[in-house]
Amino acid sequence: MGLLTKCEKYDAPERVRAMGIYPYFRPIEGEQSTLVRMNGKEVLMFGSNSYLGLTNHPKVKEAAINAIKKYGVGCAGSRFLNGTLTIHIELEERLAAFVEKEAALVYSTGFQVNLGVISALVSNKDFVITDRLDHASIIDGCRLSFGETKKFKHNDMNDLERILNNTILENGKLIVVDGIFSMEGDIANLPEICRLAKKYNACVMVDDAHSIGVLGEKGRGTANHFKLTNEVQLIMGTFSKSLASVGGFIASDKVVIEYLKHNSRPLIFSASLPPANAATVLACLDIIESEPERIDNLWKNTNYMLQLLKEHKFDVGNSCTPIIPIIIGDDLTVFKMCMILQEKGVFVNPVVSPATPPNKALIRLSLMATHTKEQIEIAVEKIIETAKELSLYNR
Ligand code: PMP
Repeated sequence: MGLLTKCEKYDAPERVRAMGIYPYFRPIEGEQSTLVRMNGKEVLMFGSNSYLGLTNHPKVKEAAINAIKKYGVGCAGSRFLNGTLTIHIELEERLAAFVEKEAALVYSTGFQVNLGVISALVSNKDFVITDRLDHASIIDGCRLSFGETKKFKHNDMNDLERILNNTILENGKLIVVDGIFSMEGDIANLPEICRLAKKYNACVMVDDAHSIGVLGEKGRGTANHFKLTNEVQLIMGTFSKSLASVGGFIASDKVVIEYLKHNSRPLIFSASLPPANAATVLACLDIIESEPERIDNLWKNTNYMLQLLKEHKFDVGNSCTPIIPIIIGDDLTVFKMCMILQEKGVFVNPVVSPATPPNKALIRLSLMATHTKEQIEIAVEKIIETAKELSLYNR
């Protein structure tokens, strides 16, 4: 009983539901596109991670269906023992070439990649050094490792150097950062991180969950964007955003991948990626390579949305990517804003404390390559209307 007392007392969601502004687990009744169906009504989607708009692309769907016809729907085991398919190997070779590393290893989710890579590489006496705003999966990977975790202030290179200076020079060190930060939409200062890593003998791992298909030549990610692929030892990516599926990968030198294949517990002790997911990612990579205009459109849309929001004096923090926060203030106002926007036909995401500092709760917009100019203008108009209703508009 004692164990479950906290559950019995936990009423925060119910209290928000009673106010009619509960914004989580909202059901979508069809495919994920720039328009989605909710409660039988079409709603403009500005909260999807499908940056390139590929989740419902006919060629991608067809590739997934064909993979099911050839391989069935599941692998019935882990990669390690009985769940490696030829399509997994094809995908790993393709991903390694895409991010310009020697080898890659596919996991069943992006979350598992961070858990499995950090915990396998950071041993007793090693240090893992993270940005304070790194994704939860990185934080949990650090918790699972036997090394010591140290955190630096968000994108603050003086603080990173202070921490590196306080570690033991000869012990192993891994610096892990998000390439594009998932809530703030700013980009890691990779040039300075790599310079400091060299100076203090550290390795660098970049989580490119939000950067694959977005940053760099042909969407190869943050390291490519800064021309630092050789200075970044580990590139992590997920399939759950631009690559329109679920799953993830790590890319690195062959020796590192060989080590992870035999030591990374979330890889070894969990069932492998279903074949339809692998085929989806391969088809998305084909499209990314053959239709570079998708990434151009994504950036055109991003810059247009940023321009409009700034013209209307919304606080978008340091965002310079398709992830755009609008910093609002307290949690309840953010919940209210989300639900009013949904009523007006626009889906956005609420991000509240502890994911943000107190009184810095925000709504998070994400752009897709497939949004039209008109859809962006409608969304901004509805955001302005809602901000006025909540007395948040101060232009
Ligand atoms: N890293 C970052 C930065 C993320 O935003 C996410 C997902 N939101 C993950 C890792 C986990 O990826 P997945 O959803 O594929 O498990």
